[in-house]
Amino acid sequence: MGMQATSKGTMPVVLLKEGGSETKGRDAQKNNIAAAKIIAEIVHSSLGPRGMDKMLVDSLGDVTITNDGATILKEIDVQHPAAKMLVEISKTTDNEVGDGTTSAVILAGALLENAESLLDQNVHPTIIVDGYRKAAKKAKQFLQEISETVSANDKTILNKIAKTSMQTKLVRKDSDQLADIIVKAVLAVVEKEGEKFNVDIDDIKVEKKAGGSIKDSVIIQGIVLDKEIVHGGMPRKISDAKIALINKALEISKTETDAKINISNPQQLKSFLDEENRMLKNMVDKVIGSGANVVLCQKGIDDMAQHYLAKAGIIAVRRIKESDLTKLAKATGARIVNNLDDIFEKDLGDAQLVEERKIEEDKWVFIEGCKHPKSVTLLLRGGSQRVVDEVERSVHDSLMVVKDVIEKPEIVAGGGAPETYAATKIRSWAKSLEGREQLAAEKFADSLESIPLTLSENAGMDPIDTLTVLRSRQMKGEKWTGIDVMKGKIGNMKSSDIIEPLAVKLQIVSAAAEAACMILRIDDVIATQKSAG
Ligand code: ADP
Repeated sequence: MGMQATSKGTMPVVLLKEGGSETKGRDAQKNNIAAAKIIAEIVHSSLGPRGMDKMLVDSLGDVTITNDGATILKEIDVQHPAAKMLVEISKTTDNEVGDGTTSAVILAGALLENAESLLDQNVHPTIIVDGYRKAAKKAKQFLQEISETVSANDKTILNKIAKTSMQTKLVRKDSDQLADIIVKAVLAVVEKEGEKFNVDIDDIKVEKKAGGSIKDSVIIQGIVLDKEIVHGGMPRKISDAKIALINKALEISKTETDAKINISNPQQLKSFLDEENRMLKNMVDKVIGSGANVVLCQKGIDDMAQHYLAKAGIIAVRRIKESDLTKLAKATGARIVNNLDDIFEKDLGDAQLVEERKIEEDKWVFIEGCKHPKSVTLLLRGGSQRVVDEVERSVHDSLMVVKDVIEKPEIVAGGGAPETYAATKIRSWAKSLEGREQLAAEKFADSLESIPLTLSENAGMDPIDTLTVLRSRQMKGEKWTGIDVMKGKIGNMKSSDIIEPLAVKLQIVSAAAEAACMILRIDDVIATQKSAG
């Protein structure tokens, strides 16, 4: 068997042993399943609010502390091809719905582990794959069946959704305050298209700065730039700002070819420099003529141009990222100008206040108090860089689940309730299947229960006792009954506000089933010459 778990430096690595990279038939299957199981095992203990965090140390000694499945797997060096597929599903789940990454990997691991016992009983992999696929389709149908439709802009529901996703993270005790700014941010940038709502998460700028506490995190109705005002002579603060967004340099452009200018007397030098200054002044005058009192420029601003701008009492910031300029346009309503002959008052944006503020050791420019900003900033704080990094990851997941519910306003309970419901339903539906596919469908149901089992195990509850009670309550139609992990008992998830987007649960089932089926269909691992890139 060519697989082993070992470590490179301090990092866990899963690899194919040298020279053992070709496996066939049952060996290949066993090998792949074992590798995938190791990945699921890594994240197993981090599921749920009582899950543990992982400390990841890279070869340079940099430390990441997280309990986010996608981050854990992104940081570790995985080389086994089947293991990589599990890492892949946590990434896709992260991109698609933002949350549920740990669950997807745990479910895929359980599906493979349960498939292994069928393979041992000589059930053909194709039969298992067919059974799993049918069961996955059914599971999604059952999840849909217990979901509840909500109003897409119901702030109370969105708050609860955001908070549930943070229950499992370091930010849990500050989740009230964070949920509030997260929901405000998403609702600010939501766009309506016909009857549908769309949220582009990129319209929410997330800036983080270590220092202060998580409670100091705020939403800015506008954009925060991690840049200073270019010139000491400019005002540090302007109210009722008229903002020009320019994606052209306020500099004299250099010629493409090398040019040589022969200057033979001081007068010529003076007139050459005067001409340069005149051109720069001309540029600045055009900007001033538009009525702008704040200039935000994507490119450079010449010293002389800075001087003229300062003299006119204008604030200027240079070398702003293109993506930030786009956000600024959405926040302030300004048009991005690339030709200074074409800048007029109507192109300017508005903000109540533009101000340079000291954030710890840095100076940042705040463009805030925009009237109806279609782009906003979340400024995240936390005691140390590691804390603030984890806050950022948790906020990302939370922004995503709020987006999920706005775009698909259907919710289910958390705490293992929907998985147990779907499992129970699949068991009775499986009886209608003929042949060995029935066995596979039953194993699919068992695998879904890996979620409530792991949640209760991580909470120090008895997993089997918990699951049996949960099953029987679900059978009685108590669809909101789940594991209240914090209280250590079975309870009503709705009254404990543990709710999740249906979209996340559907994605977990699809991603896990797809990965498991793909791995099960492999009966040959062949080392090829070509590099994957
Ligand atoms: P994932 O990456 O899969 O989202 P998490 O570690 O965030 O993993 O755990 C999510 C699971 O924890 C979900 O099944 C969710 O319903 C459950 N959960 C979150 N908060 C609670 C709670 N207070 N009580 C019970 N279950 C909870």
